[in-house]
Amino acid sequence: MDNDACASVEKELDRVVTKLEQLYETSTAEIGDIASLMSELVKVLNKAENEMVTTLNTSTQMNAPANVDDPMGDGVSMQVETEPAEPQRLTERQIEIIREALSKCNERVQKLSTEHRDLHGAVSKIGKAIDRNFSADFSSTMRVDVLQEEDNLMLVNKAIAKHYCRQGMDSVARTLIKECNMAEDNAQDVFDSEREFAEIYSIWLQIQKRYLREALEWTIRHSEQLLERHSIIEFRLHRMRFMQLVSQGVGSQNEAIMYARTNFKKFAVRYEHEIANLMASFIYLPGGLENSPYKHFLEQEMWTELSFIFLKDACQLLGISKNSALSVVINAGCTALPALLNIKQVMQSRQVLGMWNGCDELPIEIDLQPEFRFHSIFACPILRQQTSEDNPPKKLTCGHVISNDALHKLSNGHILKCPYCPVEQNSEEAVRIYF
Ligand SMILES: [Zn+2]
Repeated sequence: MDNDACASVEKELDRVVTKLEQLYETSTAEIGDIASLMSELVKVLNKAENEMVTTLNTSTQMNAPANVDDPMGDGVSMQVETEPAEPQRLTERQIEIIREALSKCNERVQKLSTEHRDLHGAVSKIGKAIDRNFSADFSSTMRVDVLQEEDNLMLVNKAIAKHYCRQGMDSVARTLIKECNMAEDNAQDVFDSEREFAEIYSIWLQIQKRYLREALEWTIRHSEQLLERHSIIEFRLHRMRFMQLVSQGVGSQNEAIMYARTNFKKFAVRYEHEIANLMASFIYLPGGLENSPYKHFLEQEMWTELSFIFLKDACQLLGISKNSALSVVINAGCTALPALLNIKQVMQSRQVLGMWNGCDELPIEIDLQPEFRFHSIFACPILRQQTSEDNPPKKLTCGHVISNDALHKLSNGHILKCPYCPVEQNSEEAVRIYF
């Protein structure tokens, strides 16, 4: 269903793109034609003007009286004061050419504007296709009341500011903080909490642009911790730098050898075969790396992959999320929205909407991708239900865990017999646990 919807919008979009390309081609040609017509016209007009001036000068001199009465004796003022002769009209042929040129121009400009108008129609069809295929009204799933509280609104603003901060857009974050009057301590927290990630993010971008210096500095700084975690990033970065040197040709051969000697030593055991493999790349140096089995090292995908390994490992090491809270919420929300819209309609038709506003949880379970699962979940082995805020998991003194509801159902007064290892205990002594 969603795929069909996307496909039909995409069809309209393709249509507009094709039309735009066609319009670009024809209008370039048309405008070129108009321009040459116009320059033609300018030539004709210039020629006509020259002819006119020549005629005018000749006639002025002829009509001017003799310079006898000229007090200044220079003859200049006389000429200016003379009534100009009737201007020479354009010849019939010239007028015809001008008319023809103008009407041709008009015609072409009108044609262009009609084609441009047609494009508007095609663009508006995209809008209609979106309206037809997607629900634009999400208001039924919104909890407007939540955002009416000042504190909650500030939390949203903070999440947005943090999102910008992570991507190095500090000035955007600062503007938002200023315009929503965020308190000083909150604003400070925005920058403090995202500073580490901002560095990682900027290195991530640099790797994609094939700059490795800062990435290498960062990994060397965290080398020990990375090795403890069996991270492959440090070796991968050195490997890429080595191949980068090799790809520069014979001139960089010595530098590449020195680089390998200095940096591959500590990986000699773990990556023995891989390093031997890399060394064979020197054979292909004269012919160029692009004509060798190593050519995949030059492809952009290798760099993109490297950048993501860096992002993942660096975030794991620092214990920070590689996605901002805002993007997690929005992506999870987009996945959940169709199901929520459906259930809302059902609830509306059965008039049970009150349930929606009352609970902290969604009325249905929504299956998100594993990347959106941050906590373990616990299902009560007795009631076979997932535990929740209202019905939290409790650990009994014997160590077994059941849900709070099950605990109440099983206890007799304060006495509870564990359903697994029938140890008798005081139900009051069970403690809540968190996953
Ligand atoms: Zn037990």
